[in-house]
Amino acid sequence: MKNKEQRNYRLETLAIHQGVYKDTAYNSVTTPIYPSSTFAFERLGVNKGYDYTRSGNPTRQALAENLAALEGGTAAWVTCTGMAAFTTIGFLFKTGDHIVTGADIYSGTIRFLTSALAPMGIATAFVNMQDPDAVRKAIRPNTRAILIETPSNPLLNVVDIAAMTAIAREHGLLSIADNTFMSPYLQRPFDLGADIIVHSTTKYLNGHSDVVGGAIIVRDETLAQRLAFLVNALGTACSPFDAWLVLRGVKTLGYRMEAHQRNAMAVARFLAGHPNVSKVYYPGLETHPGHALAKKQMKGFGGMVSFDANLDRVSLDQFFQRLQLFSLAESLGGVESLAEAPWVMSHSSISEEARRASGFSPATVRLSIGIEHPDDLIDDLKAALA
Ligand SMILES: *Cc1c(COP(=O)(O)O)cnc(C)c1O
Repeated sequence: MKNKEQRNYRLETLAIHQGVYKDTAYNSVTTPIYPSSTFAFERLGVNKGYDYTRSGNPTRQALAENLAALEGGTAAWVTCTGMAAFTTIGFLFKTGDHIVTGADIYSGTIRFLTSALAPMGIATAFVNMQDPDAVRKAIRPNTRAILIETPSNPLLNVVDIAAMTAIAREHGLLSIADNTFMSPYLQRPFDLGADIIVHSTTKYLNGHSDVVGGAIIVRDETLAQRLAFLVNALGTACSPFDAWLVLRGVKTLGYRMEAHQRNAMAVARFLAGHPNVSKVYYPGLETHPGHALAKKQMKGFGGMVSFDANLDRVSLDQFFQRLQLFSLAESLGGVESLAEAPWVMSHSSISEEARRASGFSPATVRLSIGIEHPDDLIDDLKAALA
């Protein structure tokens, strides 16, 4: 954004203007892609702010500034995947350290913690984060961080972010919030006390299912310096082209999120009244156990809806085959609607015991509600459930 007078712009405005006007050569109104791997020095010791693209790149920096502004942070790094963001954060810890997180966080994060960090001597306790006492009990003298993800996946359980960050502060721990499911439009972890926000930009921030990426956002200068060092040392930053795609996608974030959640509410209400559906999981429904907390800490209820089909009356295989608008696919957060069976798809890498413990079953279907017309989505589900 041009450095005019400082104003407190709202998210919809920041999404469009923060990190653009970077082109002084031709005054393009969008941020150019700078694919160059290296940048020439004007003379020894003098360059225009960039030297090598792993270390820094103007297109990537534009996206980082944009995302930092949307979350209310002071610095951000954009990585080549959401997991690369977690890889980078993992290097904030050392052998002997311990992390506490939820039992029903994203399955790839569970795999990272148990199969990549644990063999390096960094252990994780997986607890029911809806119960603050369970979190307190899991804290050991060597615990260094609490990792929060809310709402959870696939049952959309809601974790009290302010309560978790208060526990972290009490014990001098870092609090890390994965805000992928809500996006900064619907949930503001910094306002609730978080130290680090992580995103898979693959999902709502990009929103168009055409790039994988991640982001780390902070407010603390010491953390910022360490993360800047790590992203460069590890080489986890994303390509300029991918950064440009996310920068393009994020401009409509607020308006997409409104459409996602309006449609999700309509779909959840439809499913709740359907005889072949035995249970609906959506924080926007008054019957959802996290509804009151969701109302308090989120600006809306998001675009993810899960349900249990009555397997005596519908075959999931037939259901997925009959759907015309919903693709049978993993991932979420794009403009197009997706449907999947977590038991055999997104969550199949988790042990059966852990899957049962988190409360879903082979009958559970997870929907990522897109921004198509809600009546068309409902008609599609109606036909497939018949
Ligand atoms: C998808 C996802 C990730 C991982 O992101 P990738 O871009 O797939 O590496 C992490 N956390 C959550 C909540 C996710 O949905």
